Amino acid sequence: MARTLLKLMSGLLLCLATVLTADEPRFRLKPLDGGGVIPYYLAAAADRSQFRPGDSQLAAWALEEWQRTIGGIVRFEQTENEDAALLRFDWLPWAEDAALGRMEASTVDGHPAASIVVRPDESRFRPSIRRSVREDPLMRDVVLYYVCLHEIGHALGLSHSSNPRDVMWPGNNGVTLPVYERYRHRLQTRDDIPRTSWLSDGDIARFREIWLSSP
Ligand SMILES: [Zn+2]
Repeated sequence: MARTLLKLMSGLLLCLATVLTADEPRFRLKPLDGGGVIPYYLAAAADRSQFRPGDSQLAAWALEEWQRTIGGIVRFEQTENEDAALLRFDWLPWAEDAALGRMEASTVDGHPAASIVVRPDESRFRPSIRRSVREDPLMRDVVLYYVCLHEIGHALGLSHSSNPRDVMWPGNNGVTLPVYERYRHRLQTRDDIPRTSWLSDGDIARFREIWLSSP
């Protein structure tokens, strides 16, 4: 019974945002300097995560999309020094009580930092999405790219949106196949991912509201 409940809950949640009280300022990354630099680190994948070499590129593309869409306010720069990174990506094995993606807030030398965990094992995606991935391998990239964009959004201070057109929408019951199909339809090949815009006007407006009111 408890196991069934756990399974149900992990299916329901794309990610578990940190719970904040009303008067607590929402977490967000802050650049190191006036140039907007946010160093990021792509960790080696954990054993049994079912990570594929191209997955790091999805994370890098997702960072690039945020960077280009928000127009020069932040600049993500990859670093090989994980201790210096304010943002890191880890690739972990599936876990029943965990979500596909999660952003965890922390600090590095007193500076706000974020850790994004992605669990890329497509054999554990919900059944409709798993079936779709089996027929169309590009769908796996669509799911993981969406998860990366969504979790980076949390790291940038965005909460969930109630508009299904936004990448920050968490789904009523998790993100379902039709949502991913909407993005899939825009692509011919994997290389189209960094050439298309996935972030909505709503995502961008909410970013600007947070960042321009308190740079
Ligand atoms: Zn979320």
